[in-house]
Amino acid sequence: MTKQPGTALHKTSVAYFSMEIGLQSDIPTYSGGLGILAGDTIRAAADLKVPMVAVTLLPRKGYFHQELDAQGNQIETPESWNAADCLKPLTPRVTVVIEKRQVKIRAWRYDAMGVTGGVVPVIYLDTDIAGNDKQDRELTQYLYGGDSRYRLCQEYVLGVGGVRMLRALGYDAIDRFHMNEGHAAFLVVELLDEELSRTGARGIKPQHIQAVQSKCVFTTHTPVPAGHDKFGMDMVRKVLGKHKVWDLQSKCNGDGGTLNMTHLALSFSNYVNGVSKQHGKVSQAMFSGYQIDAITNGVHAATWVAQPFQKLLDRYIPGWREDNASLRYGLNIPADAVWDAHMKCKNKLIAYVAKTLKVKLDPRVFTIGFGRRATAYKRADLLLRDIERLTKIASTAGAFQIIYAGKAHPQDFPGKALIKKVFEAGQALGKKIRIVYLPNYDIDVAKIMIPGVDVWLNTPQLPHEASGTSGMKAALNGVPSLSILDGWWIEGCVENLTGWAIEGKARKGVKDTSAQDAEALYDKLQNVVLPMFYGDRDQYVNIMLAALALNGSFFNTQRMVQEYLLKAYLR
Ligand SMILES: *Cc1c(COP(=O)(O)O)cnc(C)c1O
Repeated sequence: MTKQPGTALHKTSVAYFSMEIGLQSDIPTYSGGLGILAGDTIRAAADLKVPMVAVTLLPRKGYFHQELDAQGNQIETPESWNAADCLKPLTPRVTVVIEKRQVKIRAWRYDAMGVTGGVVPVIYLDTDIAGNDKQDRELTQYLYGGDSRYRLCQEYVLGVGGVRMLRALGYDAIDRFHMNEGHAAFLVVELLDEELSRTGARGIKPQHIQAVQSKCVFTTHTPVPAGHDKFGMDMVRKVLGKHKVWDLQSKCNGDGGTLNMTHLALSFSNYVNGVSKQHGKVSQAMFSGYQIDAITNGVHAATWVAQPFQKLLDRYIPGWREDNASLRYGLNIPADAVWDAHMKCKNKLIAYVAKTLKVKLDPRVFTIGFGRRATAYKRADLLLRDIERLTKIASTAGAFQIIYAGKAHPQDFPGKALIKKVFEAGQALGKKIRIVYLPNYDIDVAKIMIPGVDVWLNTPQLPHEASGTSGMKAALNGVPSLSILDGWWIEGCVENLTGWAIEGKARKGVKDTSAQDAEALYDKLQNVVLPMFYGDRDQYVNIMLAALALNGSFFNTQRMVQEYLLKAYLR
């Protein structure tokens, strides 16, 4: 059932494992970039008819729904949704053992449909079934909720439970298991057990490890050490029981006390990559014992191009959905047609802001967008560092308004403080510079917000942004980026052609470069971006076209999945 006869790749079959997958807003089982990337990867694989199946968890209470009070306090409520409305229940049941209890797992299926008629099934694992202990039923309720033990159990259900479920569903010819981040790394333990039982071996020998490696691909997603899951070995043994892999891992980690999920994935994969060229290098330096390549992320073009631009592209570049590289012809689209489509997107966003927040923004005014998870390294407050300077820029170089959005993880208190800071700046500036914060940033909000702004701002602290993908969504809608040179933007930025770089003059040994970065940001806004927007609209539209043509044609998941095929899946 995994085979798709008629495609050249029928011999290859890929299982793509991800803790979160963001396919649509009403399946709220994603928290941000990682999940959206997974969803976009799956859709591109469907477009290319790659014989892929995806595996994830089914958090029944979703991530969370965000409301913001008048002071900018984040209020979290469960994002209630009903799996049966969007997913098809499957019959097989498999079990894993957790704390000596048998935990039963069932699955639900979603079919991601490609623009060419290809299909990638997505398997959602669910432990909320009769007969399971209450605490085990809870394991598929929350995404990134609970304590470290909870997380360990979830990852075990995903990795070990996921492989067992695939086998129960008849997927027995999978050639590649792709771990999208270390969360899924327990799958290697199940593959190793399969290998041992197939060969009747008792102990783990190098050939068993090699057999697993030959099937495994691992993509690491963050250069921030805290982003790599670690579990105390005592807890691992207590919760998951004994396994020879734990002994192996504690030996090679040089730190016998913990199970590091990134190391587990690294040591059982034969292809490992970071998600931008820069991130590949940073990861290589972090894990020098392994060979780490880079495949730069993308976004799914047909998903992220807004309606007015879809119409435009259908007229000027027919077939762009099937052949994203053809977006390079975008340079030939007439400038007024692009501006017209852009204003449609902008007016839609302004209407959405009016409806949601009862604030009237001005469609003639330069609009800056900033939407992403509210977390410290992304520095939502960098632009607001010097309110006086900002006011002066607005009164001399040209008026602007700012639209923010993004959820903070419920336990991320510095992230929540950032949201409050944006609110405070908005109150301090009043009508001088309108600042609004749209609540509940999700796929639907992003689809309205990103195409509707005049510039997409990104201000991460170097070198923490592994890739970033929202600027790619902007480019596909002709919106240039103004961004710190980190992640994908190092590759995507052609100064004054696809957007602008924020390059603070960092001094050696300074870890927090916020002061310099803010200075560079103000400088570019005041002297380059605003003067061009108000004084040379033709040039501004040229930049919009170049963003679409140069970056839309490359930073998409169609190109990305093709790279995975060549470098990882067909190896
Ligand atoms: C694209 C997207 C993200 C990721 O944005 P980054 O720029 O990579 O931080 C997060 N959340 C939503 C809803 C998105 O659409």
